[in-house]
Amino acid sequence: MADPGGVAELAALIAFVAERLDEGEQEAALFHEPTCASAPVAGPMECGCRCPARLLEQARLERGVLHGCLRRVGYMESGGTPDAGDVAFAYMSLRVLALRHRRHPLWQQRCGP
Ligand SMILES: [Zn+2]
Repeated sequence: MADPGGVAELAALIAFVAERLDEGEQEAALFHEPTCASAPVAGPMECGCRCPARLLEQARLERGVLHGCLRRVGYMESGGTPDAGDVAFAYMSLRVLALRHRRHPLWQQRCGP
């Protein structure tokens, strides 16, 4: 990255995390408890097992963190003088959210190492 922790890296992290959250929400219904009768079908959440709901709840919580970061970065993009602590907090929060997807093919390209 040419500007570590700068606006370009924050934008890349935001896009990367948002895409992973979108994927996670779309794929949540594919995961079931090992004992779920719907597991081989990997269909919608009509089975009632807890796995898809847990994945969606995790995505909802992470999306809340992402939105908090967007507010901080949005302040930067408006030309205001950002609070260095807010920027650092947003950057580190996004790195933590992104890090668990470090094996994703786009990680190195956008956010690595
Ligand atoms: Zn199930």
